[in-house]
Amino acid sequence: MHETMVAENLIAVITNEAAKRNVKPIGAKISCGKLYAINDEALRFAFEAIAKGTPCEGLKLEIEHKPIRARCKKCNETFEADISNPKCPKCKGNDFELLPDAPLLLEEIEF
Ligand SMILES: [Zn+2]
Repeated sequence: MHETMVAENLIAVITNEAAKRNVKPIGAKISCGKLYAINDEALRFAFEAIAKGTPCEGLKLEIEHKPIRARCKKCNETFEADISNPKCPKCKGNDFELLPDAPLLLEEIEF
């Protein structure tokens, strides 16, 4: 399962950072693009299961989904693409391309 792999990687990184500082992590914030198929519930579930017995046990995980961005082909404006009503906020054109989805990032760790 995709989320299990993500959770494993997160725990490895957080545990490593916590060990360097010799403290216990209490929270972490990650972000990823909307198209990045992360299911919050599945990730939290996998994280809790894998974190058992590690310094990450009981850690509060915050997941932020970044909006999809697009670039207008007419005026080159980049904007947040509203899938229900996609158009350029500057020239009102609807000829645009979607930009690559934001990667999964570990934004911060709270100790
Ligand atoms: Zn435009």
